Amino acid sequence: MSQRRVHVIGAGLAGLSAALQLSLSGEKVIVYEAAPFAGGRCRSFLDRELGCRIDNGNHLTLSGNAAVQDYLYLTNAIETMGGPGAPVFPFVDVANNERWTVRMNEGLLPWWIFDKKRRVAGTKPRDYLSMARILAAREGDTAGALLDKNNPLYRRFWEPFIIGALNTEPDIASAALLKGILVQSFAAGGKACVPLIPKVGLTETFITPCLNVLRQHDVEMKYYHRLRAMLWEGDTVRELDFNGNAVEIDAKDWVVLALPAWFMREMLPQVPTPTDFRAIINAHYRVEAPDDGAGFTGMIGGYAEWVFLRGGVASVTISCAERHKGIPVREMADLVWREVAALLHMDPARVPPHRIFLEKYATFAATPAQNRLRPASFTGWNNVALAGEWTATGLPSTIEGAIRSGIKAAQVVMRWK
Ligand SMILES: Cc1cc2nc3c(=O)[nH]c(=O)nc-3n(C[C@H](O)[C@H](O)[C@H](O)COP(=O)(O)OP(=O)(O)OC[C@H]3O[C@@H](n4cnc5c(N)ncnc54)[C@H](O)[C@@H]3O)c2cc1C
Repeated sequence: MSQRRVHVIGAGLAGLSAALQLSLSGEKVIVYEAAPFAGGRCRSFLDRELGCRIDNGNHLTLSGNAAVQDYLYLTNAIETMGGPGAPVFPFVDVANNERWTVRMNEGLLPWWIFDKKRRVAGTKPRDYLSMARILAAREGDTAGALLDKNNPLYRRFWEPFIIGALNTEPDIASAALLKGILVQSFAAGGKACVPLIPKVGLTETFITPCLNVLRQHDVEMKYYHRLRAMLWEGDTVRELDFNGNAVEIDAKDWVVLALPAWFMREMLPQVPTPTDFRAIINAHYRVEAPDDGAGFTGMIGGYAEWVFLRGGVASVTISCAERHKGIPVREMADLVWREVAALLHMDPARVPPHRIFLEKYATFAATPAQNRLRPASFTGWNNVALAGEWTATGLPSTIEGAIRSGIKAAQVVMRWK
């Protein structure tokens, strides 16, 4: 009898993670991707104007992200990850140029909180009790409602952390999703909080090594394959239509849909999906600034939130970019450069060659209402499983969530042998 096939649609991290799990378990896997390359929102590319490779957005993961770690081990990519090698987070307050570095200790007991030189500047140990409030959060709680905005830790930690990690305004951000991140990081001690940043780029860490393993396991990658329609017979998919090319789905075959939420809404409106999204701006400046620290700096109180330095490029993340809708791109480039120049001790008046990208649908809005719209991987249909960071992972839109969703979808498929 011929082997069943699993058709994975979408070669972002969710699809690649599903394909990896399935192929390592001996399944025959075919991956279909609309673009001529894999990676989706997590990829690098050559920018001809800047003359160098850049990531489509700065991506920070932490050593406590268990699914990311497993994925990197399975794809032999762990050595491609760099970063400070310790749980350290440098910050600068844009308002007064005050600088400090949070230096967590490695064990579970957070004694760094009691050391003035290790905690957030201007905060007291008791301020950190707010962490317990988030860890006790319930499903419908918002982070804003559980935190005291007048507390110094709010402006210098909670606000940037929530906006950076959830890409959602703290007042409406889901405290339960924030808790999902805290459980894997700060609540698990310093060992779980070592920042991990690709040494070369997102593609070199998350995509190419995975594609190599998939190739070794005879996974077929079909690029330029945009799914247009699905032919159903009751609760079973019988045919996939890629721009008029039909792929028949045999009786025992499975389909994993690892597509973005907005596309799923059009394609299968009966599947609940998040409906509200948040944009991220990424500004890349060509600068020859030495990286004399962790490789990144958190910026408090400005437009820039995180500045990453790598390979002669300073890349800046601006989350919840809708907040800056009225600012023309050119003006934004100047405003952000002023902050970066102050950080790097460079001339604020001489804006170097730069590129500004707006990712309009960067993540779903991590609110309690949107979180309720996220479906499980198991659909109830006979041969379809769902993956994607927007499915019910217990995390906001992250690399960890995307990889986790792929594992869940693979588990659904393997359960129905
Ligand atoms: C600017 C930016 C910064 C980010 N920063 C971080 C960060 O610091 N840390 C972090 O953990 N996460 C971060 N994220 C989130 C992270 O990138 C995503 O959660 C993750 O990459 C989503 O993976 P995915 O596979 O679920 O979706 P996608 O990456 O969107 O993959 C979906 C794939 O499906 C393909 N596709 C779409 N339509 C079709 C079709 N009809 N037929 C076939 N294929 C199709 C797409 O081309 C794509 O390859 C960031 C995202 C952005 C945009």
